[in-house]
Amino acid sequence: MAQQDDVFKKIVSHAKEYGFVFPSSDIYDGLSAVYDYGQNGVELKNNIKRYWWDAMTLLHENIVGIDSAIFMHPTIWKASGHVDAFNDPLIDNRDSKKRYRADVLIEDELAKFDEKIEKEVAKARKRFGESFDEALFRQTNPRVVEIAQKRDALHERFAKAMNDNNLEELRQIIIDQEIVDPISGTRNWTDVRQFNLMFKTEMGSTADGAMTVYLRPETAQGIFVNYLNVQKTGRMKIPFGIAQIGKAFRNEIVARQFIFRMREFEQMEMQFFVRPGSELEWFKRWKEIRLRWHKALGLGDEKYRYHDHDKLAHYANAATDIEFEMPFGFKEVEGIHSRTNFDLSQHEKYSGKNIKYFDPELGENYVPYVIETSIGVDRMFLSVLCSSYQEQKLENGETRVVLNLPAPLAPVKCAVMPLVRKDGLPEKAREIVNDLKFDFATHYDEKDSIGKRYRRQDAIGTPFCITVDHQTLDDNTVTLRRRDTMEQTRVNIADLHRLIHDEVSINTLLRKLA
Ligand code: ATP
Repeated sequence: MAQQDDVFKKIVSHAKEYGFVFPSSDIYDGLSAVYDYGQNGVELKNNIKRYWWDAMTLLHENIVGIDSAIFMHPTIWKASGHVDAFNDPLIDNRDSKKRYRADVLIEDELAKFDEKIEKEVAKARKRFGESFDEALFRQTNPRVVEIAQKRDALHERFAKAMNDNNLEELRQIIIDQEIVDPISGTRNWTDVRQFNLMFKTEMGSTADGAMTVYLRPETAQGIFVNYLNVQKTGRMKIPFGIAQIGKAFRNEIVARQFIFRMREFEQMEMQFFVRPGSELEWFKRWKEIRLRWHKALGLGDEKYRYHDHDKLAHYANAATDIEFEMPFGFKEVEGIHSRTNFDLSQHEKYSGKNIKYFDPELGENYVPYVIETSIGVDRMFLSVLCSSYQEQKLENGETRVVLNLPAPLAPVKCAVMPLVRKDGLPEKAREIVNDLKFDFATHYDEKDSIGKRYRRQDAIGTPFCITVDHQTLDDNTVTLRRRDTMEQTRVNIADLHRLIHDEVSINTLLRKLA
């Protein structure tokens, strides 16, 4: 784990050093859990968003996008349940004065049981070699069975406490499990309290009675309150979906792990409106579609898993997370929720407007059911960054740091470099840039040795480097160097466009989904 922590620290400093992510308000020593994206970060982020947006709106005839405002009528948050129920259970340690989420402390404890089991399995695998029957071992080994039983018992108790909103019981679990504060090492815990995560502000001048408004904690409500506008103006027929990318704000109690948990972040959400009764079928389908989207990036299929929810949010009748293996364990990147007709029914009730859909095939009016896919742009960014960061030992003994980014997501697609800064090579290189720049994010770089320039591009994940040398002036060929293999080939300038396009276009990803 210590090693993993080190890797994560390196990734965080790499992100800053190479213009991906800066702490917000850096010269004022930062603002807790708020971050800015730099020149390379914003490009990577835009490419992630483009991949998601196109996968939703181009590949599905029945999905369209919107862009709704961050400020919304405050009654919306009353109707959606956020004013009353968008809470996290928090607990303080009296010695360290640190605040924690009670549910997260218990979840971390549960994860320890799993780690213990995996250790036993790994030990046995080593001992038995080829003849090891893992499934049998998990079922019958007394030590593993005992740990699994303890885990399941804790899990059941925890799920019940969460479902019942039983704060005393959550505290009791922390006491009974002898969970200590990682900082003070003590068990001197306060009571568990609920804490609402929404940011409040005021709209209008106070003199004429300002209205309290909230910074939206999710983008979804902007879609719900617009669903009939879109349905009518777009003449959409159920089933159909509405997609949106936008900022969301949560006053997270414990903000840790870099951009994993921020107070201002970005979501990509899609609400899919279906006939009542068909929602669980669609839920299953969207689970599969979304996992395929992740896997098409080629970050490693084994890095993903589903995590089905025990505690369902007040609006859901099924929910799962897609988790990704970060350096600090498997963590939620995307949530897929069957939200029933809760939100729309609530808006019908609170607004007093009829927002039923008329189904021409059934000849009936009803409030549609909704499947939601909700993914954090920043968490997606983090998973791409973490799985791409590599330190490689080279044959000549040097180490190179390379970001093995999926080429369609890379901030810069190609860098053009004159071998020397004379003899007409810079001019020739500029000519190539001036042609490629219309289609690809292209860098021109003439400073330092060619080796150093390659390293700089490796560090930001540029898939192609193009070197212009004296031979180029004679025969219009250049050296094309590939980031991952460092292989160099001589190619015609006229072929560059096609060679680069085939690998860096978002279409190559989209086609894998078709
Ligand atoms: P968590 O349990 O980690 O707090 P959540 O279940 O509350 O997350 P959802 O409400 O399902 O999250 O939000 C959907 C997605 O939005 C999440 O899967 C995540 O990618 C992203 N997200 C939520 N909260 C944050 C945050 N504070 N910072 C960054 N991304 C977030």
